[in-house]
Amino acid sequence: MNVNPKNVHVLDHPLVHSFLTDIRDKDASGAIVRNRIRGLSVLLFYEATRGLPESQVKVVTPLTETTGSRAGASVGLVPILRAGLGMVDGILEFLPEARVYHLGLFRDEKTLQPVEYYSKLGGHKPVDIAFVLDPMLATGGSATVAVARLKTWGVKTIKYLGLFAAPEGIRALTEAHPDVEIYLCVIDSHLNDRGYIVPGMGDAGDRQFSGK
Ligand code: URA
Repeated sequence: MNVNPKNVHVLDHPLVHSFLTDIRDKDASGAIVRNRIRGLSVLLFYEATRGLPESQVKVVTPLTETTGSRAGASVGLVPILRAGLGMVDGILEFLPEARVYHLGLFRDEKTLQPVEYYSKLGGHKPVDIAFVLDPMLATGGSATVAVARLKTWGVKTIKYLGLFAAPEGIRALTEAHPDVEIYLCVIDSHLNDRGYIVPGMGDAGDRQFSGK
């Protein structure tokens, strides 16, 4: 697929490749899958926050006073339930002040369209930057709806973090929201007729939470 290199960033690193291989393995335990998703999410967040605004602060070391910096923007993490849950905790260790807004979307198995069943968005001032967290960018339906919800709330900068993507999902998301930067660990071959990414990792929710 001809992805737009301006908006789509794919991590290319031996550790990422190795973690993805662990996750793909159908015999990997839920503990391994959760652990690898957590690690990859942190690496994605690291890449996606390179341009995060900083504000200068004074800090006193044991030797003297100097200038340091802290995140200068309010950050929201928006995990798409349920598979996105596994991407939250590792990121929060690095940015504990980030706020978390769960968004419940499920895919209608017949139409493959996203249906919203839970949202904590809105009702207060929007964050400056929101990160949509979903391991699988498959049809792009959920991601497109999530970004639209964040825009309606008033968020100005939105980034998408995912582990596996199908070309179809990238196309759908970039066509609907060309302003959104997409960070991925890998772009796989295609979607099958049930909307699963091939070769992929199967059902990302089941693999994390209801597998062996
Ligand atoms: N959701 C998943 O959990 N897996 C896929 O392959 C596609 C969507």
